[in-house]
Amino acid sequence: MPGALLITGAGRGIGAATARLAGQRGYRVCVNYLHNGTAAEEVVRDIVQAGGTALAVRADVSREAEVERLFATVDAELGPLTGLVNNVGVAEKKSRIEDLDEERLHRVLTTNVVSAFLCAKHAVRRMSTRHGGRGGAIVNVSSAAARLGSANEYVDYAASKGAMDTLTTGLSLEVAAEGIRVNSVRPGFIRTDFHATAGDPGRVDRLQGNLPMQRGGDPEEVAEAVLWLLSDQASFVTGSFTELAGGK
Ligand code: NAP
Repeated sequence: MPGALLITGAGRGIGAATARLAGQRGYRVCVNYLHNGTAAEEVVRDIVQAGGTALAVRADVSREAEVERLFATVDAELGPLTGLVNNVGVAEKKSRIEDLDEERLHRVLTTNVVSAFLCAKHAVRRMSTRHGGRGGAIVNVSSAAARLGSANEYVDYAASKGAMDTLTTGLSLEVAAEGIRVNSVRPGFIRTDFHATAGDPGRVDRLQGNLPMQRGGDPEEVAEAVLWLLSDQASFVTGSFTELAGGK
């Protein structure tokens, strides 16, 4: 049953596509963002114009005080939480490991891993039957990079997604008997701003011919998988990894 859904990093890219689809499917959607309030408000406007309910909330989800405020806002404005999509993730410019600096490692691992743990923590406190909740679903947006390693590009980013995959496995087991399902999608080569942020805007166009399907993916294709994993149609699915990387 759709209810209140929090999607981190939902102003742009995969998170935005997931928010729009969730709005169409009847979820009351919290569109979290960090800097780009205009993009987040556009997502909210699209959902509301289509007859849905949505709210944009600025919060840096790698900081617990901001995560607490974000979840409290969802409680107050959208009602009991039934779903979380841990979607925030960043990569920085291409670099070999011997050239990585300490600050970057902290930034990437904090943004990608700490945020997912913090949001999972506060979602479980609300949704677990152990805490009086009614259950729910969490989807972690990982990456094919967790399997492939991203050599010569960003092994730090790939490793952060490996950590997220371990979170999916461990948390799914921890809360399986408490009404919460935890699953993961592992996209690859999706057309979003992500690649420009990592200093390579033409990456998908340049490399898509190397994929078995010979094309990049669209955020809407990832959103479909996320919505299925959140839904009751996936009621016996937990601890799973769905590959969305054109066969790579
Ligand atoms: P994107 O277009 O760059 O969007 C990233 C979103 O995250 C933005 O809305 C941004 O907010 C938000 N954000 C970043 N840091 C944040 C923080 N600390 N707190 C709150 N929000 C934050 O990225 P995307 O391609 O949609 O990526 C979404 C997820 O998919 C990521 O986890 C990424 O690793 C994963 N993924 C992407 C690809 C791909 O090819 N695109 C492939 C595999 C996996 P602002 O808009 O405010 O800046």
